[in-house]
Amino acid sequence: MKQLTVISGKGGTGKTSITAAFASIVKNAVLADCDVDAADLHLILKPTVKKTIEFHGLNIAHIDKDTCIDCKKCYESCKFDAIDEGINVIKESCEGCGVCEYVCPVDAVTMEKRDSGFAYISETRFGPMAHAMLKTAEEASGKLVTVVRNNAKQLADEKKKELVIIDGPPGIGCPVIASLTGVDLVLIVTEPTLSAIHDLERILGVANHFGIPAVVCINKYDINVDNTEKIERYCESIDVRVVGNLPYDTIMTDAMVNEKSIVEFSDGNLAERIVEMWSKIKEDLIV
Ligand code: SF4
Ligand code: SF4
Repeated sequence: MKQLTVISGKGGTGKTSITAAFASIVKNAVLADCDVDAADLHLILKPTVKKTIEFHGLNIAHIDKDTCIDCKKCYESCKFDAIDEGINVIKESCEGCGVCEYVCPVDAVTMEKRDSGFAYISETRFGPMAHAMLKTAEEASGKLVTVVRNNAKQLADEKKKELVIIDGPPGIGCPVIASLTGVDLVLIVTEPTLSAIHDLERILGVANHFGIPAVVCINKYDINVDNTEKIERYCESIDVRVVGNLPYDTIMTDAMVNEKSIVEFSDGNLAERIVEMWSKIKEDLIV
């Protein structure tokens, strides 16, 4: 089984639209939405949820007021200001470190599981899908990404699928690393802007650090051809293949609004280029 992660330095680069387009070309992959903070692959793939699994991220402190003797040791020791002077836990600030439990002289503090979100196993018109939802203001998205990836792998084993396509989160933080580790190839979707070039360099640095082969797609390449050439020269200098240059086309948004992948919605130039890009990626994945 091979795994491909589609990633970008920031949101809004077309990463999810491209992932959905691949899903509709391959039709036989397991899909994993690891952008758990802002999941939107489901808007195009319209999954039918088959199984919902509760996700517990960080622990949270619970104070038993009947046992508490109001010594304020926990209040003074909490480095995250997550306990107020009235000895109440401020849920949004608690990092689950357990210091308050450690310092409490009367065992009034216990660490409890926190309801942080849900992981889902679903079916889509292009195959099975693993995805998730993190509750508002909850953290531990890296941990939830790992849950989604494990669910996707399990689905691939059960359904005998040869490929997992992962829609990764933007940036270079912990969730990105969780969505990259152990995959066979990463596709970095970038745009010809100076900030995107900087982001591309940073993500390539992360991929390189973990020894993961990377290829690049330049979306909206025609909005700044000079910068596109800059990206191409940079990629060539470090031996990274540019597998696709996609033109700016409002059809990308139109397809999403109509809850379709680009290749379902259109057989125009953009769709053709994505199909062409997939055939190059396939070579690298040896699917
Ligand atoms: S678990 Fe840590 S962060 Fe949470 S209230 Fe206790 S000391 Fe503060
Ligand atoms: S350390 Fe324990 S006893 Fe002291 S204020 Fe906190 S919860 Fe109450």
